[in-house]
Amino acid sequence: MNNQQAAAPLMPFRVYLLEQDTEGFNETIFIAHAEDMAHAIEQARNAYPGCCVNWIASHGANWFLAQGQAEHVAMDEDGEWGFIIRFDVPEEVDGDCELDDYSYRVEEWRGGDIVDTYDAPSYQAAREWISREHSGHCSTRYSLAALCDLWNDLSDTPVTDGGYLDQAFMFFPRGVSREEVWRWFESVNPDFKAGEAGGFIGEGHPYRQYPCSSCGTDAPSVYGCPDGAELCEACFDSAQH
Ligand SMILES: [Zn+2]
Repeated sequence: MNNQQAAAPLMPFRVYLLEQDTEGFNETIFIAHAEDMAHAIEQARNAYPGCCVNWIASHGANWFLAQGQAEHVAMDEDGEWGFIIRFDVPEEVDGDCELDDYSYRVEEWRGGDIVDTYDAPSYQAAREWISREHSGHCSTRYSLAALCDLWNDLSDTPVTDGGYLDQAFMFFPRGVSREEVWRWFESVNPDFKAGEAGGFIGEGHPYRQYPCSSCGTDAPSVYGCPDGAELCEACFDSAQH
């Protein structure tokens, strides 16, 4: 980059990476000075070949929070599901605060309620907690039916020749490998196999399951009844409606 004046100004980014070893996944933070998030991810890939860009930090290529700020991580538009990181000075401390008095409070929201909190000693610890908690969070948040719909949305998302998202998808930024998004689907629901899903999940696909309103089990199809019940074949045959 010889002509600094013509180039876009470089900004600092924190890119959160997951690397797999014998112990499991480890989170690594890569500091990039890049024009935009896609550029930062490209640099991280060059530095850590084969790494996963941690999806939870996909809009977390960011700075530490300032006091009083809150960061929403993988939050839905209604603010009912997701994580919030808050940075506040604790109320019970009198006089001058030491650095150790500051902490990051992480909240996990499910269906509009806070179901879990964690007081993290550092911003990085807050992110790592979210990384550990998110697969359980997402498996509750996304049903198989919801994943089928998201899969079809992903099929409509432009991808480069190299297999990278050319447009943001959910909380994944542009520049993330499509295979990382596939792995996220599989991590959220072990019954979901990206290799078996196909390009589009329509009616009759084995992943399309419908809850029976009588016995509660999921069935590949249900029969609608005049009273509004939707029954699996076994319950329909037993003629309870
Ligand atoms: Zn049934």
